[in-house]
Amino acid sequence: MKEKIKVKTPLVEMDGDEMTRVMWHMIREKLILPYLDIKLDYYDLHIKHRDETNDEVTLAAAAATRKYGVSVKCATITATDDRVKEYKLKRKLPSPNATIRAALDGTIFREPILVKNIEPFIKTWERPIIIGRHAYGDVYSGTEIRIDVPGRAELTFTPEGEGESVRRLIHDFKGAGIIQGIHNTASSIASFARTCFSYAYERKVDLWFSAKDTISGTYDAYFRSFFEEEYNRNWKEKFNEAGIEYFFTLIDDAVARVVRSKGGFLWALKNYDGDVMSDLVASAVGSLAMMTSVLVSPNGCYEFEAAHGTVQRHYYRYLKGEKTSSNPMALIFAWTGGLRKRGQMDETSEVVRFANCLEEAAKETIEGGIMTGDLLAVAHPSPTNRQVTTEEFLEEVSRRLREKLEIR
Ligand code: NAP
Ligand code: MG
Repeated sequence: MKEKIKVKTPLVEMDGDEMTRVMWHMIREKLILPYLDIKLDYYDLHIKHRDETNDEVTLAAAAATRKYGVSVKCATITATDDRVKEYKLKRKLPSPNATIRAALDGTIFREPILVKNIEPFIKTWERPIIIGRHAYGDVYSGTEIRIDVPGRAELTFTPEGEGESVRRLIHDFKGAGIIQGIHNTASSIASFARTCFSYAYERKVDLWFSAKDTISGTYDAYFRSFFEEEYNRNWKEKFNEAGIEYFFTLIDDAVARVVRSKGGFLWALKNYDGDVMSDLVASAVGSLAMMTSVLVSPNGCYEFEAAHGTVQRHYYRYLKGEKTSSNPMALIFAWTGGLRKRGQMDETSEVVRFANCLEEAAKETIEGGIMTGDLLAVAHPSPTNRQVTTEEFLEEVSRRLREKLEIR
């Protein structure tokens, strides 16, 4: 065995739940620790441990991400009433992802892993489409009132100090109906815009932003103006030099263009649009298990994870002693994403190279016909395609990785 590759700065590791926890440990033991001399700053976000520490462990993990700049996270259970019973929790904990996102003020970028033998449903998509979703406000923290009798609905803003209230008529109801109030903040939109430009620049891809400012002439226009201002002030020259573009278009026009595009750009979207379009992109490329996710903060901290959840149903089969064919790809790419970023920040090219080799080894395994059950259903039919268990898959990735590390 050759000498291990030294990773200069500690990598923050957040452990998680259920089947992803099982896979996470396999990846760490089989694909990471044998090759790297690395210090892992470990936080156990298992639901029981979050409960025992009153969620302090989640906050500590977020603080460590701020301190070191890069973390990798396994999927975690978001507590529901059923989960409170199942794990005998003291209370219904908040979603760890929401807690970490709030602590880092980050934007989430989702990107599919493309392999040659799984064609996207949209044949023209040659390169990944990265979705940047503004994960704050709008209908996700809206207020709604059901109207049952005739009456007048108004939108009112009352300034804290001096100044007149502003009132606008929403609708004069003659009968039953419905109203909704939503908001966003300048600081959240500004940091969303800044993070999108900076991530597009880092990845050297065009940035698209789309909204409906023709109809929503104040609300959506507000978003558009933040993007334009950020572009003109901080990115125009840099984008020119890098040969990439910023481009605004109406959301409906964007959808039509995206479907006809070759891919290979970052699509920034408002909260609801991003929610919907990230599912569209994920399903068009085959499997949830092939979607990666990175949380980027405006001051340059990164948290890498898989977009999928804890794969609960597979876990119950695993507990019964079955060997499952759960797909570890997005979890592997969480590790490689984190390691590549760590290597770039530390300026250690061997670490970046290791991350690239591991990604290639994983993709080539699938391209060689060895895959988990979810992919077998969507891959190009071939007589050499073979469904394997998670362990067998990782074993094959590990074999290819060893070859790459010694040959090159
Ligand atoms: P999920 O874990 O993503 O799984 C949904 C289904 O997608 C699975 O049942 C499985 O289908 C398929 N799938 C997802 N990942 C897969 C993989 N790696 N390999 C093979 N198949 C995969 O979503 P969920 O069942 O809605 O949520 C389970 C738990 O995860 C919940 O407690 C939720 O709170 C949590 N969650 C966490 C995160 C996060 O930490 N980022 C995100 C989402 C959900 P089949 O069963 O049909 O094979
Ligand atoms: Mg969604």
